[in-house]
Amino acid sequence: GPSGPAEPPGPAVRELLELDRRHVWHPYGPMPGRQEPLVVESASGVRLRLAGGGDELIDGMSSWWSAIHGYNHPVLNEAARDQLGRMSHVMFGGLTHEPAVRLAKRLVDMSPEGLEHVFLADSGSVSVEVAVKMCLQHWRSLGRPGKQRLLTWRGGYHGDTWQPMSVCDPEGGMHELWQGVLQRQVFADAPPVAYEEAYADHLRALIERHADELAAVIVEPVVQGAGGMRFHSPAYLRVLREACDAHDVLLVFDEIATGFGRTGALFAAEHAGVTPDVMCVGKALTGGYLTMAATLCTARVAEGISRGEVPVLAHGPTFMGNPLAAAVACASIDLLLGQDWRTEVKRIETGLRDGLAPAAELPGVRDVRVLGAIGVVQVDHEIDMTAATRAAVREGVWLRPFRDLVYTMPPYVTGDADLARITAAVCAAAREG
Ligand code: PMP
Repeated sequence: GPSGPAEPPGPAVRELLELDRRHVWHPYGPMPGRQEPLVVESASGVRLRLAGGGDELIDGMSSWWSAIHGYNHPVLNEAARDQLGRMSHVMFGGLTHEPAVRLAKRLVDMSPEGLEHVFLADSGSVSVEVAVKMCLQHWRSLGRPGKQRLLTWRGGYHGDTWQPMSVCDPEGGMHELWQGVLQRQVFADAPPVAYEEAYADHLRALIERHADELAAVIVEPVVQGAGGMRFHSPAYLRVLREACDAHDVLLVFDEIATGFGRTGALFAAEHAGVTPDVMCVGKALTGGYLTMAATLCTARVAEGISRGEVPVLAHGPTFMGNPLAAAVACASIDLLLGQDWRTEVKRIETGLRDGLAPAAELPGVRDVRVLGAIGVVQVDHEIDMTAATRAAVREGVWLRPFRDLVYTMPPYVTGDADLARITAAVCAAAREG
């Protein structure tokens, strides 16, 4: 079975690491006092194989929410190979192709009723940029250019490019450096876990007060991911929907992390029975194979844009609609919908609940929470990432603890025995980090 690296790395791996240190940026790098990255050589199923010795780690992260079917999946490989033989890419201006059209149709069919138009972006952050542009342009076209700010709640995360950074949590978040440079948005308090009428009133009051300058409310529905792995009552989404409708404000759901079954619903919006005006998806869209995201909007938003003085959505990246990514995305969606995914996610949820329950008894643990295929242990201190990661790796599991959180979002195909290894590793990381 999987076991963490026991041997020190050999010369080939040492050289890679040396070159990596000298030349390669990593996410949020260079990290002060960062631990050496592990060199991953290949990945199959739920296992990452490390270079230079055949050590394997069970993947507890799904490569940041995305590899829901696991790695090296024969069906996704075949879809990629088949498309590669036709064309891996072609410009999307003036041309179209079957993979993009089929993907758009699938997304419209599976997403909340009313979303009809699909912009195929190349990353989650860009899909949020596009969502914001759609909303601002919609109001501009309708002769209300003053509606150009966004409202969100604290504790959110929407990506690392410019507009998304402005709606990330402004305090203790990852983009503090840029406060004062980024556009100033309107922030509500972070949503409480359970429904509280007073908080609903707080949301309503803010939306009403800022209605004249608000283009949209943008939130992560039900689960706030990278901003703190917090859950909240779906009822707040209905509050947002009603207040937005009452005050001419558009509603954007960022389902980049929550989409494609992760919370136990196909999209988190379903927990509330709400359709947003605009929805962003990414990450698991291609089963984690390729970089692609999408922004969906309603006919109302699209018509607003096309009635404007400039009747086009002026956005068109080079790799828009990439056929290779689109073909794999179609295959990944078919794979998901072609199985009883609800039962699989439920099984993961039960395994996470059982396996993480003992963490609640550990000293320094503040909270243990599980929703769908997401498990979180929150401690009462800043985690020592190196020690926590080392503990997980020793248990044969790949995790990426940060701030005060040890968490897992395993591939849906994780078997029960591997899942037990993952929860044991989360407990070990929480104990030692
Ligand atoms: N929104 C949410 C909710 C996310 O979790 C992320 C990625 N962590 C993004 C947006 C940004 O996506 P990407 O990293 O693909 O740009």
